Amino acid sequence: MADLDAAVSDCFACPRLVQWREEVARTRRAAFRDQEYWGRPVPGLGTGDARIAILGLAPAAHGGNRTGRIFTGDRSGDVLFAALHRAGLANQPTSVAADDGLTVRDLRIFSAVRCAPPDNKPTPLERDTCAPWLHREVTLIRPTLRVVVALGAFAWAAWWPVLQAVYGQRPPSPRPAFGHGAHWSGTNAPDLLGCYHVSQQNTFTGRLTPEMLDDVFGQAKQLAGVD
Ligand code: SF4
Repeated sequence: MADLDAAVSDCFACPRLVQWREEVARTRRAAFRDQEYWGRPVPGLGTGDARIAILGLAPAAHGGNRTGRIFTGDRSGDVLFAALHRAGLANQPTSVAADDGLTVRDLRIFSAVRCAPPDNKPTPLERDTCAPWLHREVTLIRPTLRVVVALGAFAWAAWWPVLQAVYGQRPPSPRPAFGHGAHWSGTNAPDLLGCYHVSQQNTFTGRLTPEMLDDVFGQAKQLAGVD
């Protein structure tokens, strides 16, 4: 896993995203002007024997792209790690910097696209170019992985190629629709749970509440057999 994390951190396959991640790292947000941005692909976080995985869209320009750790240093991470701490899957409720002492258990967190995209919108080509990184990561945790929580429709859709590439299974047709609380259960593959993304757009408006997150992670733990 460490080799994979190092390799993905050194990827330059998508010209538009390389240019964007580096430009954001150069120009910076005023509040972080004195900080050195990571400005590179953001690898997954968590254990190599995870039973639960959380699949996101892509790193945030001033979150993961700044700190070098997924869901770290922005409001989305605040909401996510507070919920993971309540669920007993993280040792602390905050995730502010790569060296803040955060650890997780039974959990791997990764994104479908590893570089911050403009407007949080990767192109279909960028999504497909990055997919092999996700496939390799899922292959590594396949022996223990039981449940995947997809944060948002993009992540939900990114799971079906994984099913094909890693598990050798044809995705269901038609594809099950994404929704908060959606649950797809296959054979010889992890269960897939849908959860609204922890974006500010969803959490500030009350579309996604802490109680809703608690329900999803409670269900994920139950399905995965995590205490
Ligand atoms: S998005 Fe993925 S494939 Fe594209 S440059 Fe970043 S890590 Fe590489």
